[in-house]
Amino acid sequence: MSFTCPVRDQRLVLDHVVRIGELGTDSDIVDAVLDGAAALADGEFAPIDQAGDTHRARWDNGVVRMPPGFAEAYRAFAQGGWMGLAAPESAGGQGLPHSLAAALMEDLNAANFAFALCPMLGLGAIEAIAAHGSDELKRDWLPRIVSGEWTATMNLTEPQAGSDVGALKTRAVPAGDGSWKITGTKIFITYGEHDLTDNIVHLVLARTPGAPEGTKGISLFLVPKLLADGSRNDVKCVSIEHKLGIHASPTCVMSYGDDDGGATGWLVGEELGGMRAMFTMMNNARLNVGLQGVGIAERATQRACAYALERKQGQRGGLPVAIADHPDVRRMLMRMRALTLGARALVYYAFGQADRGAAGDKEAKQRADLLTPLAKAWGTDVGCEVASLGVQVHGGMGYVEETGAAQHLRDARIAPIYEGTNGIQAADLVQRKLGLGDGLVFDALIADVRAESADERLVALTDAVEICAATFREAGMDDRLAGSYPFLTMSSVMVAGWLLERIARAVEQESDPFLDGRRAAIDYFLGAVVPEALGLGAAAGAGAELLFKVPAEALA
Ligand SMILES: Cc1cc2nc3c(=O)[nH]c(=O)nc-3n(C[C@H](O)[C@H](O)[C@H](O)COP(=O)(O)OP(=O)(O)OC[C@H]3O[C@@H](n4cnc5c(N)ncnc54)[C@H](O)[C@@H]3O)c2cc1C
Repeated sequence: MSFTCPVRDQRLVLDHVVRIGELGTDSDIVDAVLDGAAALADGEFAPIDQAGDTHRARWDNGVVRMPPGFAEAYRAFAQGGWMGLAAPESAGGQGLPHSLAAALMEDLNAANFAFALCPMLGLGAIEAIAAHGSDELKRDWLPRIVSGEWTATMNLTEPQAGSDVGALKTRAVPAGDGSWKITGTKIFITYGEHDLTDNIVHLVLARTPGAPEGTKGISLFLVPKLLADGSRNDVKCVSIEHKLGIHASPTCVMSYGDDDGGATGWLVGEELGGMRAMFTMMNNARLNVGLQGVGIAERATQRACAYALERKQGQRGGLPVAIADHPDVRRMLMRMRALTLGARALVYYAFGQADRGAAGDKEAKQRADLLTPLAKAWGTDVGCEVASLGVQVHGGMGYVEETGAAQHLRDARIAPIYEGTNGIQAADLVQRKLGLGDGLVFDALIADVRAESADERLVALTDAVEICAATFREAGMDDRLAGSYPFLTMSSVMVAGWLLERIARAVEQESDPFLDGRRAAIDYFLGAVVPEALGLGAAAGAGAELLFKVPAEALA
């Protein structure tokens, strides 16, 4: 089944949710980017998605070979200048809003999730180097990441340091000439090695001599695979993982300093300022992971709709019935479309707020910070739920591999895990974001929802979110953390419902089959998804006692 990028949906969200016109981008440019990105994703990347899953990236004595077609598709991506869409003009980029680049990333994620990770990591690296790198680093490394000539990676994880990044042990010692020598092992490094480009620029978290324990003792280093003179740096990929999905994306074990006393690297930002620099990269990446959920949800929805219209089961009035006309299948299709629209609205809105923040709007920056855990966690939960519904719509054909529905579910499942698990996002919401600006940032969001929304179901959910927030502010941290996940879901659905209602209002007077379909899905969101989220209030408020009545052993 062919895939068509959702250009009209993206335009609706960019116009009415992001309000991209206010970000100084001409309407013609928006159209050109949406159409060009769609052509690239539909034409180059969707056709190699299933082959990538079957052939997989392969490790061969330190070299990683990508599946057939990936090198050609990557060339089309790089030559089209797509990597630099939202990169600073000073580094050769086009300086367009990230909320517009979001459409490109959504398309790539939908067309080929395993490939899209490669540019996604590049985007985060560009931001981190542009914001924190020295002039030399910016001059020597940034333009070629921006042009797509080289790719970039993000190296945090070690066997003992997953969610607890502060436990990392990789070491960096000064080499005496301004550079550093890095030694250690990183695991799960996405695109740590591949044959798409000559060079790969690794951003690596490491500990310097005498650094304090925990996250305060971490610094960020730029460590290239090839040094400026073309010689090989002391870093190599010692194996790649076999995993549930994203088979074409190499997940690498990287070894630094095995052969030559340490890989040469340079500090990005201040010594001990690693977490700050890394958060620049991670905040961008977290919104982009939210987009992965949106992309895979769109792909799964399109595939399920096409199948449900074709597949006949049962008869009505003597005629065969397409399964799309059975109420329960219709429920699944409607839910898939509604959740996809909601997640798109929330994630693009968060990007739009980040764009405004980058242009100097402090309140928008804080709102983007508040929404980042929602976009990452709920966006990826939607990706998994919709991909799972997509399998269900296909029945037995969904569980076998040939329709492609199963691949979407397998691919989607990683997104709630990496870039800070969704549990860590929920903790971030109640530990830090709820209290941001003395709580005024959260309160302002609630006030905006209330000011714009008249829908009584959304008003009821907003009341519940506000009551929950007030309870959390009084509660001990364990009780907050115990309710953090349902609270995150309720808050996300509230924001998505608010933004979808805005879209529905904006196109109220227009009618065509596409808009009728979208309006119906928005009605379903408000009529079914929002009340369901209201029901999560009990779980959010239940407190830690309900969870810790017995030792964990009793649950085994
Ligand atoms: C395919 C793939 C690609 C990846 N790509 C990269 C990459 O490019 N770069 C990189 O650095 N890393 C990468 N990772 C690593 C990824 O970010 C980690 O797997 C993730 O951060 C979780 O760490 P962990 O696996 O050690 O799980 P753990 O931290 O052991 O977590 C296990 C469970 O415990 C929960 N948990 C742990 N601590 C807490 C807490 N404080 N509060 C609440 N719950 C908690 C988690 O939510 C999770 O459910 C990748 C992983 C995979 C599988």
